[in-house]
Amino acid sequence: MRIDIVTIFPELFAPFRETSLLGEACRRGRVELEAHDLREYTTDRHRTVDDEPYGGGPGMVMKPEPLVAAIEALAGEKGEGRRARVLLMDPQGARFDQRKAETLAAQPHLVLVCGRYEGVDQRVIDLAVDEEISIGDYVLAGGESAALVVVEAVTRLLPGVVGNPESPVTESFQPTRSFRGGLLEGPQYTRPARFRDLEVPEVLRSGHHAEIERWRHEQAFARTEQRRPDLLKGRTGDTKP
Ligand code: SAM
Repeated sequence: MRIDIVTIFPELFAPFRETSLLGEACRRGRVELEAHDLREYTTDRHRTVDDEPYGGGPGMVMKPEPLVAAIEALAGEKGEGRRARVLLMDPQGARFDQRKAETLAAQPHLVLVCGRYEGVDQRVIDLAVDEEISIGDYVLAGGESAALVVVEAVTRLLPGVVGNPESPVTESFQPTRSFRGGLLEGPQYTRPARFRDLEVPEVLRSGHHAEIERWRHEQAFARTEQRRPDLLKGRTGDTKP
């Protein structure tokens, strides 16, 4: 998968690209991740990317010319011949979730556009953006951290990125692939078996795989019922242990 990021702060992405699972995926060529400096697409001496809002008001708005030039250079023009899916990070966009991460993981090429200031000129969205994505109902100073969230959630779903292919399958929210599909994952333990008077549940040490599975399913269901009952709406009764 290839991911291009359009930003005025490309340096924010370098350590992320070199570290941990994503770093390994990039080194092995499984993921190509590149952050592009929006100022490279300006044409004036001052490399201007923002200007005052028409109609007045606080702050600055990102100018359309460099953004559209950058997006079109990386993805092609909007429409049928376009080479990549272009996503604008935007608190007003559709809420990013695991289902969306799965959909995006099936794309060969994404372009993630990071806003700053008061956001981007509407014509950028009209002319060059395929989708607006929000990571939650709060306002960040810029789209870079939102883009990192999307990159991490999407790339860990690609085959060969997470060491154990079972890992993403058993995790919370995983909608389509999990046998406990859509539930939160239950509690997890590692050694030691006893820590400050708290013991790892006996069943997990029993070696009895069917019992362990049943226990995990019960825990996942109970936890979801308690913390996120909204996730159980519309599910058929067959998933209740
Ligand atoms: N004036 C905008 C509004 O009221 O909707 C907010 C602009 S915000 C200060 C600057 C940039 O941060 C946005 O253009 C977007 O790229 C990014 N951003 C802020 N919050 C975000 C969120 N929840 N999800 C995704 N991107 C976000």
